[in-house]
Amino acid sequence: MNSVPTRFGPSSKSAPNVAIIGAGVIGLGIAWRLAAKGAAVTVFDRGAAGSGASHAAAGMLAACCEAEPGEDALVALGRESQARWPAFATELLKASGIDVELRTEGTLVVALTADDQARIHHHLAHQKKLGLPLEWISPAETRRREPHLAGKLAGAVWSPEDHQVDNRKLAAGLRIAAEAAGATIREHTPVKEISIAGGRADGVVLADGTKVEADVVVLAAGAWSRTIGGLTPDQRPPVRPIKGQMLSLKMDPAAPLMTHVIWAPGVYMVPRKDGRLIVGATVEEKAFDTSLTAGGLLTLLEAAWRTIPAIEELAIDEMWVGHRPGSRDDAPIVGPGPAQGLVYATGHHRNGILLAPVTVDAVARLVLEGTLEPAIRPFGIERFAPPRAAE
Ligand SMILES: Cc1cc2nc3c(=O)[nH]c(=O)nc-3n(C[C@H](O)[C@H](O)[C@H](O)COP(=O)(O)OP(=O)(O)OC[C@H]3O[C@@H](n4cnc5c(N)ncnc54)[C@H](O)[C@@H]3O)c2cc1C
Repeated sequence: MNSVPTRFGPSSKSAPNVAIIGAGVIGLGIAWRLAAKGAAVTVFDRGAAGSGASHAAAGMLAACCEAEPGEDALVALGRESQARWPAFATELLKASGIDVELRTEGTLVVALTADDQARIHHHLAHQKKLGLPLEWISPAETRRREPHLAGKLAGAVWSPEDHQVDNRKLAAGLRIAAEAAGATIREHTPVKEISIAGGRADGVVLADGTKVEADVVVLAAGAWSRTIGGLTPDQRPPVRPIKGQMLSLKMDPAAPLMTHVIWAPGVYMVPRKDGRLIVGATVEEKAFDTSLTAGGLLTLLEAAWRTIPAIEELAIDEMWVGHRPGSRDDAPIVGPGPAQGLVYATGHHRNGILLAPVTVDAVARLVLEGTLEPAIRPFGIERFAPPRAAE
């Protein structure tokens, strides 16, 4: 296994002092893992812990039906993390008392028309080549599973292993677990820059100018990761915000309109145990814009209504905007950063909830043992380095 040039490796005697920038599920999860192994951990967030994309997400663990051509390494990472989810949820329940409500009904990717069916079949052929457990089911079988689906239906892809969790409970649970393990969480404390001295990260500088020393700095600031100073522009992770508008509706928890996660053209719907139905999401290149737009919500509601007409009776519960941390190739950036003692854990784009278990385990190993788990090797920052000019 690779030895990694962080300051701490297997030979170091004491556990490191770690500063983590960002208290989303990635930063909090890493804090939990590191603090539980004896590291002195401080997590900084410019706002409230868990209030970024980790609050905004739908919580789908969709490694299979999201699989797209050209993303084979990412699919493998997603499957690895998906496999770790049940144990991760159980461990978190023990450590925090919070049940993240891992629901295992699976996902249906619904085709309403023959056009949808043709498009879905095209994807399915590729997904099957990757060995993913997906299966086409007839309109009758689809309706048997979800009786409230629209009258006109062409069938669906059944994905039995794409589950969901409540991401807000996940962030809350990780925070409790991290603090119980000894981590300090400093909310409303923005980091201005990473301090680099002699090619090594030696702490963070806060917005008020205070320097906080650390042996290892983990950059986990989600969509904001590129805004943290101290690094040259080409050393910063190529991450940008990808805006998503979402809303939730209120179902009767005793008689929900659906129990599976449902994907349909232009929308997905995620039913929660408490009766909330999450309806998402727009995908917009609008930087850090936080506005909810009539067009965005109309598109989502119309697509949801075409799929499950009975939603028109449901009350609106909440509407919100989040920013996915999108990297240049849509895959996360996890591994050693461009200075010793600096670790990147960012760019999780639309899959940060799915990828939380594998990311936090791998980063903890990297920091404590100096080793790079095979699962994350394809996801280092070096993949974005410009090609060397011919000599
Ligand atoms: C609408 C939407 C739907 C999604 N649905 C899903 C889904 O179904 N499944 C899935 O797996 N993923 C989903 N995602 C993606 C997922 O939410 C993210 O990939 C994941 O939450 C990223 O976690 P994070 O901890 O890296 O980022 P965040 O949760 O954004 O955390 C980053 C933190 O860094 C803090 N920060 C920023 N700047 C500073 C600073 N200068 N100093 C200190 N702290 C700072 C922020 O305040 C924030 O709390 C969705 C995202 C969105 C927006």
